[in-house]
Amino acid sequence: MTNREIVVSGIRPTGDVHLGNYFGAIANFIKMQHEYNCYFFIADYHALTTHPDAKELPIFVRDALSIYLACGLDPDQCTLYIQSHLPQIPELYLLFNMLAYKGELEKIPTFKEKVRSQEALGKSINAGLLTYPVLMCVDIIIHRAQKVPVGKDQESHLEITRTFANRFNYMTGSSFFPEPYGFSYGNTLLRVPSLDNSGKMSKSEGNPSASIFLKDEDKTIRQKIMRATSDSGPTVPNQTKPDAIANLFDLLRLVSSPDTVAHFDEQYNQCTIRYGDLKKQLAEDMVRCVAPLRERYQAIAADTNYLRRVVQEGGEKARISANATLQGAKELIGLSYF
Ligand code: AMP
Repeated sequence: MTNREIVVSGIRPTGDVHLGNYFGAIANFIKMQHEYNCYFFIADYHALTTHPDAKELPIFVRDALSIYLACGLDPDQCTLYIQSHLPQIPELYLLFNMLAYKGELEKIPTFKEKVRSQEALGKSINAGLLTYPVLMCVDIIIHRAQKVPVGKDQESHLEITRTFANRFNYMTGSSFFPEPYGFSYGNTLLRVPSLDNSGKMSKSEGNPSASIFLKDEDKTIRQKIMRATSDSGPTVPNQTKPDAIANLFDLLRLVSSPDTVAHFDEQYNQCTIRYGDLKKQLAEDMVRCVAPLRERYQAIAADTNYLRRVVQEGGEKARISANATLQGAKELIGLSYF
């Protein structure tokens, strides 16, 4: 275990876990736990930047943990914990807030997007939202991780994490923090599109019928897929797929066999495709992918003692690693007396 590269990633408990989370992040976690020294967590502090609802948070935390386990994360193979169970995180976050500049945080595209969506909901922008990338940076470097399995939407956060880690190293004349990079077994970071062609699948914003949630019943999955945005079909052989259709093919590639994808691709190129047939196939393949996860999730979510034990043991392991990093960083900064 000790010679393995260190991996960190997390998920925010801000709503139901969806296929974007699964294929963009969790599917990679499942494989990586056998090859790397992995730390996976539930980012409950992050939820507070936009969702300060005390009643929902425990439900979403339990859900996220149960889904992690249902998808195949094994507490004997990886360290599974809740972000707020590591007091070292807010301490290192405070130290890194001294290294981050207000101007650079304001320029980050995800901050600007979140400001827009918060304002559209009539909500105020808290300072935690501005410094969210600092917290995210600390989540990664708290275990001095090198690899971060995330979706494409997190690229800008990884870039700023490298900037802050390098700045710390430069200011302390050290090479204490490695530069972390995004990781996906497919080599490129994934972006799972929404079903209404309005961007990426997401849990907190937008239209719930545009995302497939891992808790969705078979009937709901079929309904959502059949209502996905398409168009009236190609008119010229081999024409470029418009975004909405390219999205349907992207989803098909995630859950269907290569033969099925090739079959519909050929029909598209010959202008004989019927989107109803494609959607029916997609819906069945989605159901086959999601149904076993949902069933395992239901059993695990009902077992409170097991969930408690997993996060207690995971928290203990994670605090040992976080503490070593925090003490090392404090010494380099000069916060070490007598
Ligand atoms: P979040 O839901 O923002 O906490 O994201 C948890 C993980 O899921 C992160 O690694 C994201 O990059 C990934 N993720 C979220 N939405 C998508 C999506 N639509 N496509 C691919 N990855 C995603």
